[in-house]
Amino acid sequence: MTDVVIIGAGLTGLSTAYQLVQSGQTRVHILERQPRIGGVIHSHCEDGFIYESGPTTGVIGSIELAELLGAFPDIVQMAEPSAKRRLILKDGCFYPLPSGGKSGMKTPLITWWDKFRLLGEPFRKRGINPDETIAELVVRRLGRSYLDYAVDPFIGGIYAGDPKKLVTRYAIPKLYALEQNYGSFIRGAMAKRKEPKQPKAELITREVFSTRGGLSELISHLATAIGHERIHLSASDCTLKPRPGGGWQVYYHQGEELHELVANHVITTCPAQELTQLLPFLSVQDLAPIAALRYAPVVQIAWGMKHVTLPHFYAFGGLVPSREDKELLGILNPGACFPDRAPLEGSLLSIFLGGMRAPQLIDASDEELIELATDRVHSYLGITQRPDLLRLFRHRYAIPQYEASSEARLERIGHLEANYPGLHLAGAVRDGIGISDRVRQAKILADELSTDL
Ligand SMILES: Cc1cc2nc3c(=O)[nH]c(=O)nc-3n(C[C@H](O)[C@H](O)[C@H](O)COP(=O)(O)OP(=O)(O)OC[C@H]3O[C@@H](n4cnc5c(N)ncnc54)[C@H](O)[C@@H]3O)c2cc1C
Repeated sequence: MTDVVIIGAGLTGLSTAYQLVQSGQTRVHILERQPRIGGVIHSHCEDGFIYESGPTTGVIGSIELAELLGAFPDIVQMAEPSAKRRLILKDGCFYPLPSGGKSGMKTPLITWWDKFRLLGEPFRKRGINPDETIAELVVRRLGRSYLDYAVDPFIGGIYAGDPKKLVTRYAIPKLYALEQNYGSFIRGAMAKRKEPKQPKAELITREVFSTRGGLSELISHLATAIGHERIHLSASDCTLKPRPGGGWQVYYHQGEELHELVANHVITTCPAQELTQLLPFLSVQDLAPIAALRYAPVVQIAWGMKHVTLPHFYAFGGLVPSREDKELLGILNPGACFPDRAPLEGSLLSIFLGGMRAPQLIDASDEELIELATDRVHSYLGITQRPDLLRLFRHRYAIPQYEASSEARLERIGHLEANYPGLHLAGAVRDGIGISDRVRQAKILADELSTDL
């Protein structure tokens, strides 16, 4: 008998367990199919480089994340000022994304017509279609070049997604609310500056962070705080079943051995396509609106050079508009953000290929992908040297796409949770895809459960 069983020891599962244990709920177990914790977060230390095969950095975008990091001050690593510099590709060259009015006027990324048209943004009508896509919203309020050379590359970088498919109110709810509540982005941003801030709002700095030794260090600190005895690795064939008198039966294998737990609450944090096997008491139709969630596949390449510095690319990284390149999403420069990621005179890049703009690349051969990456670092960054470190990672179900199917998915999640007390469908199937969102969801869910237990 236990109180809570969490499926998945990625950031969501571990943060939820951490918050529960912190609030005194010790009867918590995490079942993880892999022999390691962290989910997509995985740092590697090799030959003088520290590189990631999943997220490279996080942004302090929620109070919950700021407070979590505050619990581990010794390992938190804030990025160098270079992280504030973001580049966008246009006509084969990277240009800085403007950071203010003056640079906004000068930038070659935006057309003169759209710069001029921006003056009319506060007076444009509020949108009335709740399912408007990000592309439709941006073209309507700001203009085509803002979509092509600001929003599209960012959506490529964050969602590996297509702004013509992502629905604003699910994918960027804050942007949607800004227009709905204030009638304009500009008026909304100005009004928000004057409004009284919610308590602790100053903790949301939007600064870029990692942890010393890579993001896996945060994961291992969370696991230590939870207690390793509560985390069961290599737990395969997990299934959850409601018990007639209330509560849940949880079955899983470790090797040949079948284990059973009985819990009051079960929390899933896995991708949508796992739920059919995990919840065998539900039919395919029951889960169809959730299984309809599409994921962007992403190929990630760690590219390290021991004796090459890239002063012209001293930035968080360069993002790539889909009209400029149909295969490359962006090239991040973690070596410029965190000096310990590469040897002193060297560099470390993280190259992202595929996404919704080129999903077929997930099935390309290693040789094809390396050739593609080599071509792009040569064309866009002038790199002709072979890397000293080259590692390739495929994420077939990398980033969930909050598209028009989201309403039906969220409704079904709500319906199932209401009909099966103690079942919580968490993870990135809802509430946001970033590190900050995952930690926020974990804290809210743990608080909810703590009052119930
Ligand atoms: C390539 C990539 C780059 C990213 N970059 C960034 C970034 O720069 N910044 C940012 O903020 N976010 C980024 N993200 C998003 C962020 O990493 C994720 O939102 C977050 O780490 C997801 O954590 P999670 O625990 O919800 O899911 P996961 O990390 O996927 O963890 C789920 C866990 O559940 C386990 N599991 C699945 N099914 C079962 C089952 N049936 N039984 C038992 N265990 C199961 C899995 O093995 C896994 O360990 C990136 C994501 C990817 C894929």
